[in-house]
Amino acid sequence: MKVLIATEKPFAEAAVKGIKEELEGAKHEVVLLEKYTDKSQLLSAVADVDAMIIRSDKIDAEVFSAAKSLKIIVRAGAGYDNIDLAASIANNVVVENTPGQNSNAVAELVFGLLVFAIRGFYNGKPGTELKGKKLGILAFGNVGRNVARVAKGFEMDIYAYDAFCPANVIEASGVHAVNNEKELFKKCDIVSLHIPATSETKKSINYNLVNMMPKGGIVINTARKEVINEEELIRLMNDRADIKYITDIKPDADEEFAKFEGRYFSTPKKMGAQTAEANSNAGIAAARQIKAFFATGDTKFQVNK
Ligand code: NAD
Repeated sequence: MKVLIATEKPFAEAAVKGIKEELEGAKHEVVLLEKYTDKSQLLSAVADVDAMIIRSDKIDAEVFSAAKSLKIIVRAGAGYDNIDLAASIANNVVVENTPGQNSNAVAELVFGLLVFAIRGFYNGKPGTELKGKKLGILAFGNVGRNVARVAKGFEMDIYAYDAFCPANVIEASGVHAVNNEKELFKKCDIVSLHIPATSETKKSINYNLVNMMPKGGIVINTARKEVINEEELIRLMNDRADIKYITDIKPDADEEFAKFEGRYFSTPKKMGAQTAEANSNAGIAAARQIKAFFATGDTKFQVNK
């Protein structure tokens, strides 16, 4: 089978080598399209491929209809909101992600950003510590669980809410379960967002919710910018001079947020999964999933059922 690695932002070299070894070892042909600058390049590259590995590349209905032989596409990463799932189903293409492969990288970044934030962005003045602070984890999935694991090392008091993960599972990992988002924001000094961008979660982090936080509340977002109601968060930060917003996903209203000096920080580019380890893990997992799909029809990680 012919497998295309289509990455506008390429994998690290070691990851590409690992992916090739996996696929070529199973007699698949691998072709590379990296750093493409125009959609037409992607449209011609997909024309005769059976499978694709992508990263944040946008795969819409036009790409699916150009990819006449495509049977499976694997997003090397967790979020798959860059793929038009309705078009994938209409074109009979299996879509998979590689859950959990970059969760440690994202969790480590959460703490890098948090220490930076509570130390006043290293402004030379005294800051505070994470030890003993109440941390709220919104969504106890792969990243949320890794955040909880690291938070224990900082001796934080950890709370979590997940719409689909039962309270007893959360409690079993030594984390207090709360009943809903409101309770989490009311209780916690810091809330770390790990919800996917869905119709329920988009713009769900709004004025009323964040306003429930105690004095000095910090919201940290390493999930998706779409979950924030930016207009309302800006209004709240104008009304409450104690609230901070730290994000790994530059908001659309970045310039407006940047006016909150000392209370807002965004990484210049999404950095969460940008480690050599996460790159390799996710890319190689994608290659293995493609191998398993063609060898046995395995669709364990399918997200468009
Ligand atoms: P995951 O699928 O393992 O976990 C998501 C969790 O969200 C699940 O436990 C699910 O039950 C829960 N959930 C879904 N809808 C919910 C709702 N309405 N309320 C509460 N909980 C809800 O995903 P993950 O790997 O933990 O990733 C989490 C998010 O982080 C994803 O949106 C992903 O796009 C983003 N992410 C960002 C980066 C980055 O580079 N910053 C890297 C990886 C993942």
